[in-house]
Amino acid sequence: MKSPRDTPEVTLVGAGLAGSLLAIFLARRGHRVTLLERRSDPRKTAAPASAGRSINLALANRGIAALEEVGVMEGVRAELIPMVGRMLHDEDGRLKLIPYGNKPHEVIYSVSRAGLNALLMNAAEATGRVAIRFGETVQGVDFTRHHVLPQETPYDVLIGTDGSASAVRAAILERTGGSLDEEPLGHGYKELSIPPADGGGFRMEKNALHIWPRGEYMLIALPNVDGSFTVTLFLPNKGVESFNALTTPEAVYALFERRFADAIPLLPRLGDDFFENPTGHLETVRCAPWSFEDHALVLGDAAHAIVPFHGQGMNAAFEDCSAFDRCLENPDRPWNEIFAEFERRRRPNTDAIADMALENYVEMRSTVREPKFQLKKDLAFRLEERHPGRFIPRYSMVMFHTLPYAEAQRRGAIQEEILDELTSRAASVDQVDFARADRLIAERLK
Ligand SMILES: Cc1cc2nc3c(=O)[nH]c(=O)nc-3n(C[C@H](O)[C@H](O)[C@H](O)COP(=O)(O)OP(=O)(O)OC[C@H]3O[C@@H](n4cnc5c(N)ncnc54)[C@H](O)[C@@H]3O)c2cc1C
Repeated sequence: MKSPRDTPEVTLVGAGLAGSLLAIFLARRGHRVTLLERRSDPRKTAAPASAGRSINLALANRGIAALEEVGVMEGVRAELIPMVGRMLHDEDGRLKLIPYGNKPHEVIYSVSRAGLNALLMNAAEATGRVAIRFGETVQGVDFTRHHVLPQETPYDVLIGTDGSASAVRAAILERTGGSLDEEPLGHGYKELSIPPADGGGFRMEKNALHIWPRGEYMLIALPNVDGSFTVTLFLPNKGVESFNALTTPEAVYALFERRFADAIPLLPRLGDDFFENPTGHLETVRCAPWSFEDHALVLGDAAHAIVPFHGQGMNAAFEDCSAFDRCLENPDRPWNEIFAEFERRRRPNTDAIADMALENYVEMRSTVREPKFQLKKDLAFRLEERHPGRFIPRYSMVMFHTLPYAEAQRRGAIQEEILDELTSRAASVDQVDFARADRLIAERLK
């Protein structure tokens, strides 16, 4: 006899990063999957649009773990550029590399959003159970008749992987009377581009994430396999130095000459890029509930969009897919229980990474410049060597480990107190009282 869950076909709205990966997980469990995607097929476009989102992304351990689970990581690996640390550019153009981790394998990877999405779509279709329907924009859901609107496409089980402005989320919240909290950051972003060097190659250090931290705002750059860098300017929306104030090419160049002078020769299309590319909006989205009865669920950015400063939105969405797959282990479990279990497991963790991502903006644009930051980073690495597996710098717990985000946040707060206490009177790591450090770690980090 068939179990209740062998039969349902799953309809996913959104064939972005989460939707394409989730389709593979579901197909492996025997489900037929239909993906409804509003874009045209990006694999058939010469220069696929990045759907208004970043052109490249940082992929880290959580994302990699999920990609490995479905066996696509080998294909992805060829497309990756390792980034070993943050390359800081100060206002005089001096460079300083701050490594991300303490061990050679502790690196993050720059990957093309379009390339990764195409690879996942191909892998999903290759299962033979997944059909992607392009040019289909979902606007609502008729939960009474189990239909997606306006297409009138019937569904058995519906999952919204339709990103931060999710239509499926809106339908669930309307039906359940749920809550939506959209917290704008007050800062936006603009993508710019550094072309490859003449004759190929990179115009800056290839294996780093470049940052120009300027206190209230910053510029960053991630490498692409063709030798170019995608540059992102993060700036307040309003104020003296803001997107609102940059209304002419002269104003843009004046800001760059004042604050990012060493980047100007690298950005031959600065003026054009600035006015041709849209200004992106940044916010944290929290909503409840994530599901409606046994009909529908949201996952990825549709459930929990976060600001991009920890490079974890996609990684968290991929971890969602893997966590959801584990909720499907018992084939007889009803879908409402599966949805509830998923939300119970994931919400504390996605709330935690939302907070940590906001904190990381301040670290990247400001704190990273302070001598105390470097001292605490050096000390954290030394403590990790003395207490492996017990004291792990918070950045490493988030990026290089897969322990739950909420646990990384909890342990990170204790560690921060320890680091503050140990460095309150130390100017260098050599001046730190390591006997006291060992005692504090033994007492507080169980
Ligand atoms: C500037 C920036 C930089 C970032 N950098 C990083 C990073 O370095 N590392 C990282 O891990 N994350 C990063 N992120 C976050 C990451 O982009 C998201 O977390 C990730 O894309 C979420 O995947 P998703 O599939 O849930 O949503 P999306 O990638 O937004 O995919 C949603 C899909 O649904 C489709 N869709 C939307 N609405 C509908 C509809 N109504 N009907 C049909 N289809 C629809 C869209 O076309 C799209 O294909 C960054 C985000 C930004 C904005």
